[in-house]
Amino acid sequence: MTELEDRLRAVDEEIADAARSAGRHPEDITRIVVTKFHPAALVRELYALGVRDVGENRQQELAAKAPEVGDLEDLRWHFIGQAQTNKAGAIRRLSQSVHSVDRIRLADALERAAASDEDVLDVLIQINLTDDPGRGGVDPAGLEQLAEHIVGLRSLRLRGVTGVAPLDEEPARAFARMTGYAGRIRSVSPDADWLSMGMTADFREAIAHGATHLRIGSAITGPRPARG
Ligand SMILES: *Cc1c(COP(=O)(O)O)cnc(C)c1O
Repeated sequence: MTELEDRLRAVDEEIADAARSAGRHPEDITRIVVTKFHPAALVRELYALGVRDVGENRQQELAAKAPEVGDLEDLRWHFIGQAQTNKAGAIRRLSQSVHSVDRIRLADALERAAASDEDVLDVLIQINLTDDPGRGGVDPAGLEQLAEHIVGLRSLRLRGVTGVAPLDEEPARAFARMTGYAGRIRSVSPDADWLSMGMTADFREAIAHGATHLRIGSAITGPRPARG
């Protein structure tokens, strides 16, 4: 086994253990491997090990990498980073889901970039769990308004909510708040039942709080190379 395979299998075992401890089924949890800063070759290695869901947080990097592995037809790209409105078209063309919709203008820009009447993009609303408005994510007070707006857009399918636990708070506390936001969004759109939360440091707690989509980078890929 390579080190990569070792780490992937170890994380998957931890996910399965955490799920069982929480009385959940491991197969109800999607493990997205975050490949940021790593070359497309790593994505190809992960694919050979069975990985089908990968994530990037910067549009330029996604645009450089995704075409290099464009032959891997059932690979799904999740865009998980702060998105500039003027990059919405590029992000939409390259990804199968966007986890970081946090404002009406971005939702509208993604909608305008639909390729055809059949083109439907999965989106999640990212919620800002900090007190710092610069962190990305909608203020929880605006959650329903944004959700209702997205539900009214033909080419976006609202799937759920995303959160990143703040650095200065117990992840379990932040995830408990997310569970409440997930309930609020389902009252706007009952089938929006994805809960994207949990990274290398806190995916076990995220699973205990109902995460359906984990975004795990370094525990699987190893340390990230320095940013170029
Ligand atoms: C980088 C990143 C992750 C993964 O981080 P790790 O700590 O390496 O697991 C998850 N979510 C977002 C939004 C990220 O940018």
